[in-house]
Amino acid sequence: MPLVHGTELFAAARKGHYAIGAFNTNNLEWTRAILAGAQEKNVPVLIQTSMGAAKYMGGYELCKGLIEATVKAMDITVPVIIHLDHGNYEAAKEAIAAGYNSVMFDGHDLPFEENLAKTKEIVKLAHAKGISVEAEVGSIGGEEDGIIGEGELADVEEAKTVAATGVDYLAAGMGNIHGQYPANWKGLNFERLQELADAVDVPLVLHGGSGIPQEQVEKAISMGVAKLNINTECQLAFAKATREYIEAGKDQEGKGFDPRKLLKPGTDAIQATVEEIIGWMGTKPVKLVPEEI
Ligand SMILES: [Zn+2]
Repeated sequence: MPLVHGTELFAAARKGHYAIGAFNTNNLEWTRAILAGAQEKNVPVLIQTSMGAAKYMGGYELCKGLIEATVKAMDITVPVIIHLDHGNYEAAKEAIAAGYNSVMFDGHDLPFEENLAKTKEIVKLAHAKGISVEAEVGSIGGEEDGIIGEGELADVEEAKTVAATGVDYLAAGMGNIHGQYPANWKGLNFERLQELADAVDVPLVLHGGSGIPQEQVEKAISMGVAKLNINTECQLAFAKATREYIEAGKDQEGKGFDPRKLLKPGTDAIQATVEEIIGWMGTKPVKLVPEEI
């Protein structure tokens, strides 16, 4: 089973100035499409569930089991990391207990000292099982599963303090936003990104990767971003392909209403999106596969 923890992979990515994609899954089709895209490109992939997606799917154990069984059924050979995206304290503990390979503890809405204390606790719990941890400093703009960020820039001193807890990767506000970017968006703040990259050695995470112009993402990757989160782009691709199928009346031709046919164009569109993004992130095929779980 190619399930792995994230630490070594992402450290290599930061050192090598490339990024690894972290794609959100919502169901079986999403899971298959993400895994197929990574396998096609022969690169490691991080497949993540938000708290909302995990609740929708039936909980962390179900998500872990579904992804693990799908990896096996599809004969996936690239390294796969099952990750919790934007977990609160309870969710992070649950995902650790369920056997995720990596968890994000998002304490950005807590007072800094409390965020720090809880990050330390999650790091201790996770590392005791070899599980990687992502923490967040500075909120990230937009809304994701009810967690709303205002898009501030991460404080460099806070980033240093959080990185010192031993987290394996660090999400930092750098002008990025979750969801679709408004027309008046100012772009990524490269000055702050440089300060953060100079201050901490841990791989940085760019959230809200969907919709940032490719050249800005490439520049951010060259500066220290090693994990790129993609969610909205896959959702839009799925919705567009599904809408086209139905608007073309294909669900009314023969057995076009069969969910296996109805969901196929959308699933294929997710895979194409995953492959396209992996292509321009420069993800390296893994030569040295970390110890398998
Ligand atoms: Zn995010």
